[in-house]
Amino acid sequence: MLNIVLSLSVSSCSVLVDESNQLLMDTRASRLKGENCRQNQDYETSVVTIDKCELLQHVYYLSSDQLAGREIGSKGSYLAQQYIIEQLQLAKIKPFKGKYGHDFVHHKTFKRYQGRNIVAQIEANSHSDSYIVITAHYDHIGTQGKHVYNGADDNASGVATLLSIAKALQLKPLNTNVLLLFTDGEEAGLLGVSAFLEQQPKIISQTLLNINLDMLAGSRSTKRLHYLSYDLSKNFTRAQIKEFKAQHHTFSIRVKYGFNGHIRRATSGQRRWRLASDHGAFYRNNIPFVYYGVGEHINYHKKSDTYNNINHDFFWRASELVYHQIRLLDKYLI
Ligand SMILES: [Zn+2]
Repeated sequence: MLNIVLSLSVSSCSVLVDESNQLLMDTRASRLKGENCRQNQDYETSVVTIDKCELLQHVYYLSSDQLAGREIGSKGSYLAQQYIIEQLQLAKIKPFKGKYGHDFVHHKTFKRYQGRNIVAQIEANSHSDSYIVITAHYDHIGTQGKHVYNGADDNASGVATLLSIAKALQLKPLNTNVLLLFTDGEEAGLLGVSAFLEQQPKIISQTLLNINLDMLAGSRSTKRLHYLSYDLSKNFTRAQIKEFKAQHHTFSIRVKYGFNGHIRRATSGQRRWRLASDHGAFYRNNIPFVYYGVGEHINYHKKSDTYNNINHDFFWRASELVYHQIRLLDKYLI
């Protein structure tokens, strides 16, 4: 069993943090403590895939005031879309059906939402007609008066993880095709993911598994990653599911099955968490899912959900774990 004790990230980049998790605006190396994103090989290189500095850089930009909380239809949302597309292009990841931007319109009683999902794909290493769809919503709740709701954990973190995982998968594809679905309008009621599945009904029959990433970085005191799964026995044997669970203990974060607390789209019992984020649209179509997140915390949907208030180190480890979980599940998918 691998026990991954990791310290630092690999490449040089411009998001700098000190030991107390604070962003350092002064970039002079002499002023930096702890994690400074310089070359550092102080870990077990064979098992580390996610570049911590790059991962944090994604969150830093996506949760900056410039993007103003990334509300659906806003200028900040457009900037987030541009950023995601640029990162996909840099990693040479192909758009889905010839375009990254997939627009949708949703009408509610007194409101019209104009949204755009960003969708890309990584083809399987040999022929496959099946998909793993990995989802992360990039929208958040925007601003209220002068206050920006930056949404660093919710869900710049999930988007950052998806971008980093996508880059790794592009270099080393899976046995299954991967659809990367950066959704819009999640906060308004899973609008983006629902629209996408309506637009692409064939994908529903081809999808063996949804992995949904929503809030992986928590607050500074977050120490535990939660997950919820549905119907894994459709595609995996008991022994394979056991192996999947055993992998949680090989990473230096705690992992717990299930979520506590309440969430806005509350229905009742377990079902409310099955519908709590984009995996809900797959659940409604009887598609197995695994949803990773930290659940509610002190900064949830507050203006204090900022880059400085997430748990940087935990977040990186959680992202690394998710990457390895996806690889493990793919190994057993037919
Ligand atoms: Zn969210």
